Order: sequence, then C-alpha cells, then structure tokens
Amino acid sequence: MRVDHDIVIVGGGVAGATAAALLAQSGHRVALVERRRPASPDPSADFDPRVVAIAPGSAAVLAAAGAWDRLPDERLGPYDRMQVHAESGKIVFRASEHGLGKLGWMVEVPWLQAFAWQALEGLAGVELLAPSSVTDYSERTGHVRLELDGGKALRTHLLVAADGARSRLRRMAGIRTDLWHYNQQALVAHVATKRPNDGLAWQRFTDFGPLALLPLPDGRSSIVWSQPERRVGELRAHDDDAFLAELNASQDSPFGETTAATPRYSFPLIRRQARSLVSGRLVLLGDAARNVHPLAGQGLNLGLMDAAALAEVLAGWDGGSDPRRALARYERWRISGGSLVAGGIHAINEFTRAGPGRSLAGLGFSLAGRLWPLRETFVEYACGLDRDSPELARSAR
Ligand SMILES: Cc1cc2nc3c(=O)[nH]c(=O)nc-3n(C[C@H](O)[C@H](O)[C@H](O)COP(=O)(O)OP(=O)(O)OC[C@H]3O[C@@H](n4cnc5c(N)ncnc54)[C@H](O)[C@@H]3O)c2cc1C
Repeated sequence: MRVDHDIVIVGGGVAGATAAALLAQSGHRVALVERRRPASPDPSADFDPRVVAIAPGSAAVLAAAGAWDRLPDERLGPYDRMQVHAESGKIVFRASEHGLGKLGWMVEVPWLQAFAWQALEGLAGVELLAPSSVTDYSERTGHVRLELDGGKALRTHLLVAADGARSRLRRMAGIRTDLWHYNQQALVAHVATKRPNDGLAWQRFTDFGPLALLPLPDGRSSIVWSQPERRVGELRAHDDDAFLAELNASQDSPFGETTAATPRYSFPLIRRQARSLVSGRLVLLGDAARNVHPLAGQGLNLGLMDAAALAEVLAGWDGGSDPRRALARYERWRISGGSLVAGGIHAINEFTRAGPGRSLAGLGFSLAGRLWPLRETFVEYACGLDRDSPELARSAR
C-alpha cells in the first residue's frame, strides 16, 4: 500500500505549524491540513486582540522552526520583570536575578502563525493543504486514511491532531476529555496608561478574577481580565469612560490610571484535559491535548513544548516502522508535564475567587518570594527551561 506521508498534521495554528516545521527538518515527509490559510500580517494594523506571552523556552522552539526571527521588533513586547499581587501580598521576579535576558515577550498570534507558515513554505518535504478540512479518518493496517472535504484522501503513517480545543479528531478517536466550566470569560483589550509600560508583566487577583496588564511594544498594555460571564457582558456594553472607570477601580499597577481602551473582546473559559494523548497512530498536540485558564499565560507555551517533545521522540523514527513506542513516550512525558501546569493554574484560580483565599495566596506569594530555590524553580517552569522541558527549549539557557 502506497502511503503519501510519514506524518499528516491537522490544524495549522501556531502549535501545529511549528510541529510541522520541526518534524520536516528531521527529514520526515509532512503534510499540514488547515481549514483557513493564514493571511499575511499587515504592519500598518493596530495590535491584534489575540496577543500571548511567549516564554524563552518557547521562543527557542519557534526560532528552531524558523518563525521567531522573522518577527520585527516593532511587534514584540518584551518583559524582564513580573509582579503578581493578591490582596496585600506580592511576588516579584526579575530576569537578571535568574540569569535571563527576558522573562518573555508579548506577541500577536496571527503574526506567529503567519511566520510559522512562511518558514514551512521554504522547507523540503512539506505539503501545505489549505484551505482544506478533515471530514473523517480511519486506522488501517500500518497506516491511517484521512478523508478531506472535496473528496481527496490521504494515507499517512502517523496522524497529529493539532485542531484546537474543540478537536474534531479527538472526538472521532473516542478520546474522552475532562471539562471544567469556570463560568468566567476573559475580557481582552489594549489600554493606554498614564505612564508607559516599559516591560513589566503585572497581575492582580481582583474581586472579580485575575487582571493582567502585559506590555505591548508601543508602551500600551494588553489586558486580560477573567470575570463572571454576566459581568463581562456588562463591561463590554459600557462606553469607554465607564469601562475605564471600572478598570481603574480594580487596578493599581505602577503605570497609573488607564486613559484609553481599544474595543473589547471576550473568550469563554473552559479547562479541558484529554484523558490520553494517543490512540493507535493518532496523537494530540496543543489545545487539542488540553487547554488551560489564561491566568498564567501558558496555553500556547504548553503546545509549543508538545511540538518540540514530539519532534524529539520521533527524531530517530524512519517513517516506515511502527511509531507507537515513541508515541507512548510522548504521551507519558506530555500528559504529566501538561497536567502539572494545568492543575496548578486551576487551583490558583479556584483558590483566589474568594477574599480569604486571596489573602492566603498573597501571604503565600510574599513567603515564596523570600525562598530562593522556590522562586528559581517557578521561573524555570514558567520559562520552559526546567529539566522536563524538551532539549530545544532548554537551549534558551
Ligand atoms: C484570553 C486568552 C489569553 C491567552 N494568553 C496566552 C498567553 O499569554 N500565553 C500562552 O501561551 N497562551 C495563551 N492563551 C492560549 C493560546 O491562545 C492557545 O493555547 C493557542 O493559541 C492554541 O494554539 P493551537 O495551535 O493549539 O490551536 P488553535 O490556534 O486553535 O489552532 C487550531 C487550528 O486547527 C484548524 N482546524 C480545526 N479543525 C480543523 C479541521 N477539521 N481540518 C483542518 N483544520 C482544522 C483551525 O482552523 C486552527 O487554525 C490565551 C488564550 C486566551 C483565550
């Protein structure tokens, strides 16, 4: 039986496209199937509302995929300090104290995706199928058969589902998923403040939920404010003055009052965790594997660690032999790493919902700030530089 590709990846978001580049660089024949071909970014456009914090380990993974170095400085919001407040307690991190140049960068998702695709266009052994959607798949002896809309069929030795939080392939594979509805939404907007944000990632656990002000390259901040669903509706309906008044009542960042805001968007918050990451020759990656509350800015970072881990375990695979041993290693590795981070984020969000929990969390932050080994461990995990991170990520040290 002729098999068209070693690996087909379904979903060309940042995680899927990065995995495609890393796997193709190892010599595998890769096809990427994506429903919507990403548009070229417009340098004259304002910053997209979908900005994410990218940690140094993830930046190293994106660099290896050929995407990171294409990002112009004007679209990168670096931060070298981080402050997290809960009631009167706080913890402060400085990159220089941990031997790092930066703790991370704020980057627009559409720019990252477009540059990951540009990198793929120049790689041998890659076929880009977009716009194209997978409608069905079936596992056969020694390969997987995929049906695409338009009637095309593909045969592959390995199928990677990187098709996002509501992964259709995960459902078709019968992989069960644990779900937690937070009854919260994340409200996002870009805001100007009295003083420019010069590279501080600031967060406070407010009465309504965690509120972050994260640096954009032009001195404004991107806010992510998780709140009860009903309140998000009200805040989105406010005019700018009323919205800024509410925001200023909850934020006491060093940048002073917020003075202007872009239109506001909101995203429902649901935690999902796939119970297994592998089913036969299908493997889950990125948000298809799990998605997490945005309070720690870890969702895409976890997906990029998946991409690097998958490339690492498949580095010696010849395409023709059975990949399932390598996939089992990937599953053990990424299900434990991802669950630890996701569980920690979940616990903090739940714990800080009520005043007494926030006071205790604040006390914990202040104490942890004084314990050097704890702080160092936290920074290593948050930056993707811990011992459990893929080699590519750790090369950022
Ligand atoms: C408010 C908010 C703030 C966040 N902040 C951060 C942050 O600071 N740091 C961070 O790391 N993460 C953050 N995240 C999470 C991050 O945005 C996601 O984890 C990440 O974008 C997911 O990437 P992905 O490639 O796995 O999935 P997606 O981006 O969802 O990509 C999936 C792709 O699959 C395609 N697709 C779906 N079905 C099919 C099909 N049947 N056939 C073909 N193609 C298909 C889709 O078109 C899509 O392009 C945040 C999320 C939110 C909501």
